[in-house]
Amino acid sequence: MANQNKQPIALISVHGDPAAAIGGEEAGGQNVYVRNIGEKLAALGWQVDMFTRKTDSDQPSIVQHSPYCRTIRIKAGPESFIPRDHLFSYMPEFLDSFLVWQDKERIIYPLIHTNYWLSAWIGLEIKKQSKIQLIHTYHSLGAVRYDSIAIRPAIAETRLIIEKEILEQSDCVVATSPQEEENLRKLVSSRGIISLIPCGTDTDNFNLISKTEARLKLGFAPSEKIVLYVGRFDPRKGIETLVRSCAKILSDYGKNLRLVIVGGSSCERADGEERGRIEKILKELTLDQQTIFAGQIGHEQLPSYYAAADVCVIPSHYEPFGLVAIESMACGTPVVASDVGGLKFTVLSEETGLLVPPKDIDAFAQAIKRILNDELLAGTMRKKASANVNQRFGWRQVSIQLSDLYRRILAQSIMQEPIIYLPKLTSIRDKENAVILTE
Ligand code: UDP
Repeated sequence: MANQNKQPIALISVHGDPAAAIGGEEAGGQNVYVRNIGEKLAALGWQVDMFTRKTDSDQPSIVQHSPYCRTIRIKAGPESFIPRDHLFSYMPEFLDSFLVWQDKERIIYPLIHTNYWLSAWIGLEIKKQSKIQLIHTYHSLGAVRYDSIAIRPAIAETRLIIEKEILEQSDCVVATSPQEEENLRKLVSSRGIISLIPCGTDTDNFNLISKTEARLKLGFAPSEKIVLYVGRFDPRKGIETLVRSCAKILSDYGKNLRLVIVGGSSCERADGEERGRIEKILKELTLDQQTIFAGQIGHEQLPSYYAAADVCVIPSHYEPFGLVAIESMACGTPVVASDVGGLKFTVLSEETGLLVPPKDIDAFAQAIKRILNDELLAGTMRKKASANVNQRFGWRQVSIQLSDLYRRILAQSIMQEPIIYLPKLTSIRDKENAVILTE
């Protein structure tokens, strides 16, 4: 049942379970985003229900994160992992399960914030049936993504149509960087309302900690030159570029060069394929002995990895925002990142890290080397990087902006209620001289 004193709102994230472990296949930035804004919005006074698809029959259906914030896993298709490109046919069932939940719990969500195009379809369908305010965050844009891959999946056309519809029909789309806003206008539609609110990071967790202590904790030697990758195993993340650029600088550092790769699920899924491919390249380049696959690491442990590293590399071919960049910079570790998407917005090149053209192995190698060799540059970047993230990207600041947006949109919707024309009344007096009103 709804708490009578709180305004319930729903966040829908069909494939990005906010209660899931992060780093495995298809569990990354979106999960982190939804969970963090959910928790922070609840702390700001909303009652937040986050809906996702149940992917395992052993998973609890409800995970309570804090008194007014919970994840609700609902049935849509088999209770097993399904790649997101194959999920669309289960969306009508997701919609039904959501509506049944609303009825059963007697909650009406006047505002729904959807995440990724699959959830957008759900939001648009609900909006057709009832008067809700609909907000959307894309997380990834088909129009950009399909530009960077050779073969489009079968679902591509449907996705592009829904991504256009959500921009034009929702009450507001949240772009997380000016680059995303530009892409939306250029590639999706000139219609619709866009509000620029970035992603964030937990600056209490990701902050400046001592490199010496972090290395001691993780068992790395002080003399090692540590190059770090954190993220999913997906070809668009460009791990191959990183590996090949490390091979280029191997002769400069010899055995002192250490490549640490964090993330990826251990099972036989598509991300396992990408890992296998990367391992093969490492062997060919004789870098395998100097590479550590740390596996999936939780956010409690991750600050130590960032702090222990000399540089964190984000070699994505395309990156809508890129949480890893701000997490690393918050911990004071400069980044070398592809000059694409949200990374152009978060990384201040030459100040908090270095931006280089995507897929450019030589440029990545040179940039990594510059940071590894120039202690003064690395030290200056360390301070600026952490201060910059603290100032611009705390989850709390981000959630306050979202909360204000929700309030504004809900207030507007009340003002836009159809005006009821009351009959013109005239006051007259009855026999007892009391005022009565008549038409
Ligand atoms: N992540 C994690 N553990 C891992 C690997 C990744 O917690 O082993 C987290 C990482 O800290 C970040 C998110 O996954 O918060 C990745 O988000 P990003 O926006 O960089 O990439 P996306 O996954 O959205 O493409």
